[in-house]
Amino acid sequence: MLKIYNTLARDKQDFIPIEPNKVRMYVCGMTVYDYCHAGHARVMVVFDMVYRWLKASGYDVTFVRNITDIDDKIIKRAAENIESIHVLTQRFIDAMHADERALGVLPPDHEPRATQYVPQMLEMIALLEKNGIAYRAADGDVNYAVRKFDGYGKLSGKSLEDLRAGERVDVGDGKNDPLDFVLWKHAKDSEPAEVKWDSPWGAGRPGWHIECSAMSSELLGKHFDIHGGGADLQFPHHENEIAQSEGAHNCQFVNYWMHNGFVRVDNEKMSKSLGNFFTIREVLQKFDAEVFRFFILRAHYRSPLNYSDMHIDDAKTALTRLYTALKGAPLEAVQVDWQEAHAQRFKAAMDDDFNTPEALAVLFDIASVVNKTPDAKLAQQLRALGGVLGLLQRDAQEFLQGGAQAEGMSEADILAQIAARNAAKQAKNYAEADRIRKELLAAGIVLEDSAAGTNWRRA
Ligand SMILES: [Zn+2]
Repeated sequence: MLKIYNTLARDKQDFIPIEPNKVRMYVCGMTVYDYCHAGHARVMVVFDMVYRWLKASGYDVTFVRNITDIDDKIIKRAAENIESIHVLTQRFIDAMHADERALGVLPPDHEPRATQYVPQMLEMIALLEKNGIAYRAADGDVNYAVRKFDGYGKLSGKSLEDLRAGERVDVGDGKNDPLDFVLWKHAKDSEPAEVKWDSPWGAGRPGWHIECSAMSSELLGKHFDIHGGGADLQFPHHENEIAQSEGAHNCQFVNYWMHNGFVRVDNEKMSKSLGNFFTIREVLQKFDAEVFRFFILRAHYRSPLNYSDMHIDDAKTALTRLYTALKGAPLEAVQVDWQEAHAQRFKAAMDDDFNTPEALAVLFDIASVVNKTPDAKLAQQLRALGGVLGLLQRDAQEFLQGGAQAEGMSEADILAQIAARNAAKQAKNYAEADRIRKELLAAGIVLEDSAAGTNWRRA
């Protein structure tokens, strides 16, 4: 039986769906004003793994992951770029989809955009007002009164007093309590028309939290099975979602809350100010996308994930070991033989709160057997089990050659290429110089020009 660590219960619990054999799952998606970073990659891959495992377990899954396409940061960025919000968000939605495809992330069943669900949000705010939980503040915003909702703090496990003392909460204009949060932001003159909607409380736009409550109840119902997201969303975003949905509907919102851990870079918090901030695109310039996916799944989803080039190189070596066992194994799709001993161990690991490091350890056990004594049937089982995690679906030879190219470039080859590039630059053939630089980068070699000449390093 599947067990899931439920943040709400602070315990690993048996998973019992509301409707037999059906799972309804919602995950908070991206705010689309920039390229997705390594932290987003983890949310994407972790919940893709959960989605795949639920389906492999025979559930009929409805998976919703939203897109936040209206927000302060989006408005600010569009103004800076002097472009429309729609053009900006569509560009980054397209980029996000490209990143997802590269990482082998399946599209969710529904991908609602906040701007398409404003009527449902207004309906919900009206319900909250009717229930005496929402109030219109002096500045024209409509706020949520956290004191009016008894369960506030149950997800983060804190009382209102703890939260007031422990969290940095902006004291906004007209809020009755610093923890109150905005449901509807009144329109400002400086904002473009495309971010203004009419409402019974005047023109404005929705606050961030209300979109997830409105979209999840529209697409999954008032009460559903699993809600996921990054650990950073636990408070206040998910706490506020519970307050809104349960405050409006007077019934339990979600049965199981799942949160994935943070991504750290060289053991430090990833942040723009520390300069250790990587977009998925930057990562994929240096590393194979499947290696990056494998690297993410090698850690348990609740543990912190420490990003470093060394750890990803390590992941590459490990994945190479698995692909080596697949040399000569045909590519056709094969079903997992769930009666076989390795598959049973794999299943036990996955059913134990999606323990992917354990599940991958089983794959290495299969690979060592196959690498010692070729066994076509077992190799197929390895490929099929890898497929359950969205891995090992490429031609082994192709993967191994790709890996060898990047690793196998000798120092002499690299120096010869650098000399050719310098010659091209001297001849003012910058296109050729750039082509050589890019070719080296694709092989994992980064060039750094300085006054003293060109240095290189392995990416
Ligand atoms: Zn959300």
